[in-house]
Amino acid sequence: MNYQITLFNTINNQKEQIITCQKDIIKMYVCGPTVYDRAHIGNARSVVVYDLLYRLLLQLYPQVIYVRNITDVDDKINTRAKEQKISIKELTTKVTELFHNDVKELNTLMPTFEPKVTEHIAEIIELIKKLLENKNAYVSEKHVLFDVSSYPNYGKLSKRNIDNMIAGARVEVADYKKNPLDFVLWKPADFDDDPSSVFESPWGMGRPGWHIECSAMSSKYLGCDFDIHGGGADLQFPHHENEIAQSCCAYPESNYAKYWVHNGFVTVNGEKMSKTLKNFITIHDLLELGKSGIAIRLMLLTTHYRKPFDYNDKALSDAEKTIQKFNKIVNETLTIFNNLNLQSFIEKSSIAPEVIFALADDLNFSKTLACLHEIVKEIKIDQNSLDLRKKFISTLDFLGLI
Ligand SMILES: [Zn+2]
Repeated sequence: MNYQITLFNTINNQKEQIITCQKDIIKMYVCGPTVYDRAHIGNARSVVVYDLLYRLLLQLYPQVIYVRNITDVDDKINTRAKEQKISIKELTTKVTELFHNDVKELNTLMPTFEPKVTEHIAEIIELIKKLLENKNAYVSEKHVLFDVSSYPNYGKLSKRNIDNMIAGARVEVADYKKNPLDFVLWKPADFDDDPSSVFESPWGMGRPGWHIECSAMSSKYLGCDFDIHGGGADLQFPHHENEIAQSCCAYPESNYAKYWVHNGFVTVNGEKMSKTLKNFITIHDLLELGKSGIAIRLMLLTTHYRKPFDYNDKALSDAEKTIQKFNKIVNETLTIFNNLNLQSFIEKSSIAPEVIFALADDLNFSKTLACLHEIVKEIKIDQNSLDLRKKFISTLDFLGLI
């Protein structure tokens, strides 16, 4: 069967059919976590949404390369390590492990590559050198800055004009900048920095700015042109805008990512999640309450990925009920068919085509759920149909809901 994937492409503000840069291979980069604290449900939503997309791509393309980075160099990391009186390495190793444990509970697959910033400083320095050579960057007071005025397409993704870019985002005004929108590619070390967080460079000891890492690591693993770039909607500006500026200026013959996919933000009981409102909910908090990772996963997918998702008790209990209903069918199947092992019901060719069609349409998950409920109805009418049960279980497995 022939499936065509369409996704909403933020840069062109419309749903578009995916046509890959190279035949038979699809490449996706997603901005990953900054490892200074446990993943909250906003982070979890992004991980689960791109996991669903990854599973769909694996189904439809002979080869998929999925890269999700780990940001292990950041001011927040330095601050947290100082507060906890531990080394940066200790903090980032611990938090990365917690992140992996948490997202594993949500039944997400590991990406093909998960590069860390600290292991790619050489690539980052090379990229900054290129930007300096191409006159898109300048050195000022031991900082290297990207010169936004050198890139006429700046603002194309987020569709902002210069004035509301300055007003709308936390653009740092500093005297070493020619223009307030110029952003840091490399910053000098502070005198009391942990030695594991500073690196040698042609511009002195220091560390990379946040945006440059994604440009450097995506081109290393995916090449200068690749297919899908994903992340939370809050990353559109300035992070993704800056990634485009850096990569397109360093490699003027390339277009960087072709399709920009953004997932909506998460609120808690209608309010923005924030430390001051004390409504920060982590994956770990929910698991500690005895909630199943699969139910949390379903809850995070039930609202269409581009819409804002509001976390509340009802959303979670609805997802739990649905998973219980699905599990009942699975357990009943095992009994009817003499406790055959679950794996024997799972076949790629048994996955419901209507579910793949629904997901191929900009990840239409409500239609996907409706299809699953429909199969449950059919099973209730035809209890002993092995084919129907295989279809149901294979589809649940494909969606990571088993
Ligand atoms: Zn990024």
